[in-house]
Amino acid sequence: MSATATGLVTAAWRRHYAVRLEGGETIRCVLRGRHLAVACGDSVRVALGADGEGAINAVEPRRTLLFRSDAHREKLIAANVTQILGIVAPDPPYDDELVQRWIVAAESNDCAFALIANKSDLPGFAAIEPRLGACSALGYRVVRLSAKFDASPLRDLVAGQKTALVGQSGMGKSTLINALAPESGARVGDVSTALRAGRHTTSETTLYPLDGQSWMVDSPGMKAFGLAHLSAEAIAHGFVELRPLYGKCRFRDCRHATEPGCAVQAAVARGEVMPWRVALLQRLLGDSERRARTW
Ligand code: GDP
Ligand code: ZN
Repeated sequence: MSATATGLVTAAWRRHYAVRLEGGETIRCVLRGRHLAVACGDSVRVALGADGEGAINAVEPRRTLLFRSDAHREKLIAANVTQILGIVAPDPPYDDELVQRWIVAAESNDCAFALIANKSDLPGFAAIEPRLGACSALGYRVVRLSAKFDASPLRDLVAGQKTALVGQSGMGKSTLINALAPESGARVGDVSTALRAGRHTTSETTLYPLDGQSWMVDSPGMKAFGLAHLSAEAIAHGFVELRPLYGKCRFRDCRHATEPGCAVQAAVARGEVMPWRVALLQRLLGDSERRARTW
């Protein structure tokens, strides 16, 4: 009979994991049981082997489980997240659809969402102000900063939270993480020593402990954020300003396009809802429908 321990998953590769045990030590673990799925942020029970490695044999109940899908499969990003922080900048270009996909993911997981607008020192920053304003108008917090020079405006935002940081590569995620979790380099070193086999591969996701119970999960920069696993209702729910209008259209299955008696189009006509938001909703719903037909 082997000893067991409880720990927090702090890095996930394709087939193995780093688990920080309650005692503070980080060990390499494999999964025991075909049907277990594990992500960074999961609290797990581990059977300790004589070789100093472990086998994860149970996952504690989760508050949330965040994933995104690509054409082939669903990828776990993190478990137990309380907020999603999306990072944007003037360069690479601002992508309204990507931001909305993060919002939908947050809303469907009952997580908070805030936008980090990085590289505020760049002259091109003024050009993204209207998009940032639109995000604030929806009720989401927007934090403008220049991570390269001062990441401190983010400290309050991550305090007490379990954060998933998402963004396309090049936006400044690494810069931000290095500023917020300065020991991260050393910690990553520890993990790769503990996980000799993982030394030459970068983990798919990594968890950076912050103060107290707070942590931040970074996943590789992503251009797309697939929502294939979500229903049309979940996608529609992610458009906060449209929620009061749902159910008020003449037709129950209204697509809010050219149907008569559409409450959403009426709100557009009154200038209460931005037309591009409705177009975005339709695009995401169209994707979701096409998938439902092909799956
Ligand atoms: P990641 O791919 O999201 O991890 O992005 P990095 O942190 O590697 O940053 C990408 C590039 O943007 C690097 O050249 C950084 O030096 C630069 N960068 C990051 N933050 C800022 C910033 O606040 N202002 C400016 N001008 N450049 C930044
Ligand atoms: Zn309608």
